Amino acid sequence: MLKLKFYLAVAALLSAVYLNGQYNRAPFRPKIIVGMVVDQMRWDYLYKFQDRYTEGGFKRLIREGFSCENTHIDYAPTITACGHTSVYTGSVPAIHGIIGNSWYDRISGNTVGCVDDNKVQLVGSSASRTGQSPHRNLATTITDQLRIATNFQSKTVGVAIKDRASILPAGHTATAAFWLDSEEGNFVSSTFYMDRLPDWAVKFNRSKRIDAYYKKGWNTLFPLSSYVLSTADDKAYENTANGEAKPVFPRKLSQFIGKNYGAVKNTPYGNTLTFEFAKAAIEGYNLGRGKVTDFLAVSFSSPDAIGHIYGPNSVEMEDNYLRLDRELSQFFEYLDKKFGKDNYLYFLTADHGVSESPGFFLENRMPSGAVSGKELNQAITTALQEQLGIPDPVLAIANSQIYMNWEALDKKITDRRRVTDIIVSALRKLPGIADVLPSETLSAASVPELTKRMLINGYNAKRSGDYMIVLQPAWVMGSAKGATHGTWYTYDAHIPLVWMGWRIQPGYTNKPVGMTAIAPTLAALLHIQAPGASVGEVITEITVP
Ligand SMILES: [Zn+2]
Repeated sequence: MLKLKFYLAVAALLSAVYLNGQYNRAPFRPKIIVGMVVDQMRWDYLYKFQDRYTEGGFKRLIREGFSCENTHIDYAPTITACGHTSVYTGSVPAIHGIIGNSWYDRISGNTVGCVDDNKVQLVGSSASRTGQSPHRNLATTITDQLRIATNFQSKTVGVAIKDRASILPAGHTATAAFWLDSEEGNFVSSTFYMDRLPDWAVKFNRSKRIDAYYKKGWNTLFPLSSYVLSTADDKAYENTANGEAKPVFPRKLSQFIGKNYGAVKNTPYGNTLTFEFAKAAIEGYNLGRGKVTDFLAVSFSSPDAIGHIYGPNSVEMEDNYLRLDRELSQFFEYLDKKFGKDNYLYFLTADHGVSESPGFFLENRMPSGAVSGKELNQAITTALQEQLGIPDPVLAIANSQIYMNWEALDKKITDRRRVTDIIVSALRKLPGIADVLPSETLSAASVPELTKRMLINGYNAKRSGDYMIVLQPAWVMGSAKGATHGTWYTYDAHIPLVWMGWRIQPGYTNKPVGMTAIAPTLAALLHIQAPGASVGEVITEITVP
């Protein structure tokens, strides 16, 4: 007995020494966590343009940080709202319920926006308008968990141009979330968080930065001929934006001064604006200055807008990343100065990647194409009308899922498998469709395990559609112009994940890491409870240095 007591005492002492050793290297927790999501940033962009990246931006992140090089999204559809929610909850749409930016709601019979909330009002807008909140996210976020762990002393703030990219990461208990109201060109919030904007935000809005950006216009950072990693500036498979006749440089923006504030999102100035507001929020809320850790969740929406319009191989996209790199470098300098290099924990990731433009694939003799929801709807409707005599069998097609009008169908048939057979054989005939799978029996489908697992993780029984459409590689749902994302393929699912700052030793791993690892890893680093619905594995390479 005495012996046992002795061993226990030694063990306790050793673990105390070990823990002390660990804690001595850096403070118990960082002053602030800055989580950065770059909307539509594919993993390869960390490296693609590195010849002209600065030493202080993405290159510094790779040099001083720890990169999880093989980070993949754990589910499909790979879409903005799902990505931001999964990063911060450590969970998947099957559980947190954010299955798309919007989806068809069977109860109301309408399409609902993921953050739209008719119980709250917009704050910071001159007119009374319906606002937004995280009420449709069924899980807690790492930001919520930090608030709970500190008995709500931690401040947690979300910032982005897109409402969902600010609101979903900031969590249910957020101090505040801000996003850009493109009608008036102001950062706004909602009564879910506050009754009026803080004075510093009002002051920021009064500075009318967007008009100043518009005055400058958008030209390339370097001579156009030096953009050798992109296609020619004018390609037929690019879209155009903001009323431009051709998708080419230089771009005049002065015609938008005092109006069309939404146009800023389609230029790299959207990033500039987001950095400026993020810094204003750090100053305004005095983040990282209290006794406990604060959390700033910031997301950059412009890379997604630019990618959708011009595609990942455009000069516009290259210029966006060269500029973002320079601004990131300045932001790191700001954080260094403000908090000290080792006192902030920073991570960069993305909500999803992107496919090359179908036109780009085809031009270079790779198989690709586009199929529209309308074509699919037409094919299903015709087949079911002809074979079962049912006029309107489809309620909606959203997020590559088909919602069926079972009320009408069940009156005509006794076995739903008959409907499935008709739909599957009709859609398999269409070019670009790999298969159509009934959602409720995904686990029995004859598709590769990875595809199956991702689709099951993306399927929420109450909110998702009855059938899942699986596209062939490099095919997109929607337009053949520009580019998009949403599938399970690696171009949509392989994202960057790099950590830097407090307690992070430089390094990298090529081990597979899920997007859902981010929240539980943060919880492990902070020694707080992970979000209840998190399913990801802790990245032990960084938690145990
Ligand atoms: Zn997008």
